[in-house]
Amino acid sequence: MISTTFTARWVFPVSGPPLANGTVTVRGDRIEAVEPRGTRTPDDDLGNVALVPGFVNPHTHLDLSGARGLIPPTDPDHFTDWLRGVIAYRRTRTAEQTQADIRAGLDECLRFGTTLIGDIAAEGASWDALAALPVRAVVFWEVIGLTEARYQSALDDCGLKAGLSWADDAPPTVFRPTPLCRWATSPHAPYSAHHNSACGQLFMGNAAIHFAESPAEIELLTSKTGPFVDFLKQLGVWEPTAFTAGVRDFFATWPKCAPPVLYVHCNYLPLDVPLAPAHTIVYCPRTHAAFQHPPHPFREFLARGVRVCLGTDSLASNPDLDILAEARFVRSRDPDFPGDQLLRMVTLSGAEALGWATDCGSLEPGKSADLVAVPLPDSDATDPHELLLADHAGERRTMFRGAWHDRVPREGVEPSQPGFVDPAP
Ligand SMILES: [Zn+2]
Repeated sequence: MISTTFTARWVFPVSGPPLANGTVTVRGDRIEAVEPRGTRTPDDDLGNVALVPGFVNPHTHLDLSGARGLIPPTDPDHFTDWLRGVIAYRRTRTAEQTQADIRAGLDECLRFGTTLIGDIAAEGASWDALAALPVRAVVFWEVIGLTEARYQSALDDCGLKAGLSWADDAPPTVFRPTPLCRWATSPHAPYSAHHNSACGQLFMGNAAIHFAESPAEIELLTSKTGPFVDFLKQLGVWEPTAFTAGVRDFFATWPKCAPPVLYVHCNYLPLDVPLAPAHTIVYCPRTHAAFQHPPHPFREFLARGVRVCLGTDSLASNPDLDILAEARFVRSRDPDFPGDQLLRMVTLSGAEALGWATDCGSLEPGKSADLVAVPLPDSDATDPHELLLADHAGERRTMFRGAWHDRVPREGVEPSQPGFVDPAP
């Protein structure tokens, strides 16, 4: 098997310091070596680019990719109005339209250099699209139900269709996990999932849950009052017995050995809640800003040693699915926040959160050759992360498992979105 050595202006292994004109040697679908300049003679000089691990976007909803710009985020006190907009939008989409939206969103993720995606999908709708393309994925099957019976029914549906282990009488699987595409579940949120059932679910395996997203959710959990009561009554699903715990109690019931769980948003999460090492906070910076929430506590949680990674959320609340743009946004708001931490939050931390860190997330010998070449500005900087995090356009090239994929299926994609990098001629 032939190995190829690439060099670039900067190589960012993430697991170690940046290497000026460093090299990455790829053999087959694996990284063979990551070395400083001068150790090996490169075969291919990629020029003025940053060579970084494939990006990881641990939180999106590809099925909402047709909603870009259609449901403007509200202020924090009217979050339930935005949810009404999402529900109304979903009811307008046929199954065929939803599949086209998923493919368009996935195409956008890939062209921005994403090589690992965590997607929350009602009825696992994104499975076929994700399993068919050159990308790693965890598909979180969304589970909703405020009564125990409804929640269990939704969970059974998930188990029966996916052949997941908790369904004792599961038929031959419809969606069989592949080496690159895995199943998990997502009790949707504390305001939409029966608490005791959701807690049990989170103990069973990898899971994601939207958490502490709005002031209304905190009020609902704390006192069973507020905008969510009317919202749920209008939907005909109000069930006051569903909510058994406030935010602190909700966490206090988890044992420290709980399996990996992604807590998504956490905009209003108290700083002292107990989180286990396997737990991750997913912060979605531009969506957070669009809803005008107060400053996110991610710095404080990082200082506590809690893993935090960035996510885009969906196009119902975000301008695009570019996870690097999330890091650049944080950098623009807080130039003092360390660039190496931001890069980790869109690569290795996401891979750890999704359970793929032994395979990807950093440039290390033995890991999958998943890399992105990101064009850099011509300027210089004391910290090379500044170059990577500067708002700079240009076509990104992605290598997945040792093969460059400059082109992916383009069906249904809307070009010319702001900030949209379109490699097609
Ligand atoms: Zn979400």
